[in-house]
Amino acid sequence: MKQLLSIMASCILITLQSFSATDTSKPQPKKEQSYLFTHVKIYDGMHDTLIEGKDLLVKGNKIAKIATHIPTTRLTTIIDGNNGVLMPGLIDAHTHLMVVEDFETAIYKSDQMYIGAVATEAARRMLLRGFTTVRDAGGPVGGLKRAIDEGVVPGPRILPSNAFISQTAGHGDFNTAMSYLSPHFTGIPDKAEIYSWVKIADGVPEVQKAAREVLRSGASQLKVMASGSITGAHDPLDATEYTYEELKAIVTEAEHWGTYVMVHAYSDGAVRNAIKAGVKSIEHGLLVKPQTLKLMKDKDIWLSTQCISYSKEAQELGISGTPMEPKFNEAKKGAEQTYALAKKYGLKLAWGTDTFGSLDLQATQSDEFTARAKYFSSLEILKQVTSLNAQLLELSGKRHPYPDAKLGVIEKGAYADLIIVSGDPTKDITLLAHPQKNIKLIMKDGKVYKNTLRRGK
Ligand SMILES: [Zn+2]
Repeated sequence: MKQLLSIMASCILITLQSFSATDTSKPQPKKEQSYLFTHVKIYDGMHDTLIEGKDLLVKGNKIAKIATHIPTTRLTTIIDGNNGVLMPGLIDAHTHLMVVEDFETAIYKSDQMYIGAVATEAARRMLLRGFTTVRDAGGPVGGLKRAIDEGVVPGPRILPSNAFISQTAGHGDFNTAMSYLSPHFTGIPDKAEIYSWVKIADGVPEVQKAAREVLRSGASQLKVMASGSITGAHDPLDATEYTYEELKAIVTEAEHWGTYVMVHAYSDGAVRNAIKAGVKSIEHGLLVKPQTLKLMKDKDIWLSTQCISYSKEAQELGISGTPMEPKFNEAKKGAEQTYALAKKYGLKLAWGTDTFGSLDLQATQSDEFTARAKYFSSLEILKQVTSLNAQLLELSGKRHPYPDAKLGVIEKGAYADLIIVSGDPTKDITLLAHPQKNIKLIMKDGKVYKNTLRRGK
């Protein structure tokens, strides 16, 4: 017995020794790459004044220090900012990365591999315009997000809504044929649903199922079509889509999952319906009455609207003479008043573009800076596109796909998502409308994607 015990004891000892031997023989973790930015003025995304005379150290994928005389190691790359403004990477709160053609063509007529390939390039170009994070407001973007997060292809961080949730004949019912019959009647599955572009759902049980399916697909928030639209195939702009009960059911599903609902809504009735149902982010909202905007302020609801589309005329957008023209003109009229009142009431305003279509059309994303300058100061716009948008994204709670650090700010511990702009965007926001020329450096997650600055010493 004694012998047996001693054999057992020595076995345990050998096992322990072999464990510790394996431990020490493990390759040591690679020393973290670090970057030191010198000769920069820092806009932190929150305050009105620039931080001057300090350097910024990035270690791994986070901001490690903002100070003077930061010691460096052999592995530190020093980048001389040439007196530019270092600021948080830009955030767009309303993109559609997968929508590289008009909706109907993309869904019903195109090879989905083609859509994926073009969208991959769209994501790369968006990152190179300085957008390090986007909230994608609908479309099957989950696969692209995965490839970006895995480092396979370059692109911004994505908070995906994935498939739109829409009622029959709603804004998400993208088949323009009036004779089109729903799968409900024909039993023939629809491409929009097979390829996860849209869930067409009517009635409480159907919307609950649709919401749960979209949440299962990894959406960080739900995108619901709650009113008529300019580009919609069937719906008049003033239409209210979904009943209160249906919207409420979707909001409940989102809340049970720990996240929230954003809705496409123009008309006053639709926005009221959405507010009552507990929606947290109103997209567009250009036909709302002043008292509804006040209600949004009281209930802390975000207005996520886009100035870029309405800074142009129907003709410039190539929609003269189409059914879209009168709807566009109506929304354009509402836009002026909504922006002015939103500013007056102090609403929480997101910065988003809703630019979709060809790569050339998507490149107009940065024009939002110029369009918005008509209504807001450079500092107001800078806050919207950085820390305010990041605050909006935090509504995703535990479903936020990037929970380890803050986005949209320059502070110790935040994600190292930053850009360096030549000139001072706190004084002239339109510098950001020309990213190729004025954004000298783009870093996302501690990795440099563009650098036209010289190496420092
Ligand atoms: Zn949109």
